[in-house]
Amino acid sequence: MKPSSSNPPTTAVPDTIRRRGHNISRKDIDPDALKVLYRLHRHGHTAYLVGGGVRDLLLKRKPKDFDISTSAHPNEIKKLFVNCRLIGRRFRLAHIYFKGGKIIEVSTFRTVSEFELEDGLIKSDNTFGTPEIDAFRRDFTLNALFYNIADFSIIDYVNGLEDLNSGIVRCIGDPVVRFTEDPIRMLRGVRFAALLDFSLDDQSARTIRKMREDIWKGATPRIFEETLRMLGRGSGGRALSLMHELKLLEILFPKVYNNIRKNGIDEYLDIFSRVDSSFDDGRILQPALVLAALFYPVFRAEIAGTTESDHLKQARSVLTPMSERLQIPRRIQDTMRQTMAAQYRFFALKDARYKPRTILRKSYFEDALTLFELIAGGTPEGKQLVQGWKDLEKQSPQQPPPRRSRRKRKRGQSPKRSPSP
Ligand code: ATP
Ligand code: MG
Repeated sequence: MKPSSSNPPTTAVPDTIRRRGHNISRKDIDPDALKVLYRLHRHGHTAYLVGGGVRDLLLKRKPKDFDISTSAHPNEIKKLFVNCRLIGRRFRLAHIYFKGGKIIEVSTFRTVSEFELEDGLIKSDNTFGTPEIDAFRRDFTLNALFYNIADFSIIDYVNGLEDLNSGIVRCIGDPVVRFTEDPIRMLRGVRFAALLDFSLDDQSARTIRKMREDIWKGATPRIFEETLRMLGRGSGGRALSLMHELKLLEILFPKVYNNIRKNGIDEYLDIFSRVDSSFDDGRILQPALVLAALFYPVFRAEIAGTTESDHLKQARSVLTPMSERLQIPRRIQDTMRQTMAAQYRFFALKDARYKPRTILRKSYFEDALTLFELIAGGTPEGKQLVQGWKDLEKQSPQQPPPRRSRRKRKRGQSPKRSPSP
């Protein structure tokens, strides 16, 4: 039987790929991460680049961050680096600070992941482990490769390279065990498959379908964060398709799931092609706009036959169940509602009933226009409208959006006209 995190090996022999057998060059590694690796190594510790950094370098992608694992214990790390702070109560991690606010995270090899907690308690007393145990506690084989600074080799305990080369996101060990330990791994699996345009291995995919309702056993803020990472980092369209296929969408966003079942996924893929390309163009969309783009088709179906003055109320009723389940911060909820409810106005650029200045002066104008671009920018007419609004914005005198007065109106004082659309 293949070892898994539930029966981690004690003497697994890893595959070691020497420098000339792989494409990771030190030129591609952040110089500060290299400094940390070298310093740990010079002081007699094992020091590896780990996780997404190694995965992305092997795939010739630009890593988001460079995490390091080492045999040095947290206090030993702290002694080696003046610019170091230890964080975390249960799991002590070292953060090493560099210019420009850059942080290199260094963790000691360990036996369990920080999220594998049962009722807030670590299942094992001994949290420090060997490199092989550290490899097997990780989530997917492609995330468990080590780059060894001692000889620039890749160390592979889990057949991760084979999966990486075949485009497979495979759970380390039994998916039932791994998703029970930490249900958020189901979302992470979808995220990596979508991000890299890989496939989940059959067993992991089957298990996600079976265990999908267990997702709510995970911590809500983590569910929210992973969902945003899935949808808003350039591969949202693929993530949506995969979530739909695995029926995870039914659990996370039932209204979206039902809408897709009724009307197909094409409109979502069209909208998310623009969500994804704005990420590729270097524009990070705020979470409220990614979620508003996701919910717009549901919202549009709900407002059919209602008047414009009802749109805010309808937006609330479409969004509230999801906002409560995912504990979405109020600020994000407000932006979602306002930008969704304002969409009819953008379709009516030339409508003589409205004064363009009114919507141009709204504090949420920019966000609402961005949402409009996402939902309507796929057709020539939509593109023309977007351009029309941008031209109008350029022509209109720059003025700060009106401040909403916090003071209550005194009795007898006449109400100020609010510039509503
Ligand atoms: P990204 O590029 O999005 O940062 P990543 O693979 O680096 O992807 P992180 O969330 O930064 O993902 O985690 C770093 C590494 O820690 C992972 O590659 C994986 O090895 C391990 N890891 C993270 N979360 C878990 C988890 N829930 N269970 C097991 N291992 C995990
Ligand atoms: Mg990372």
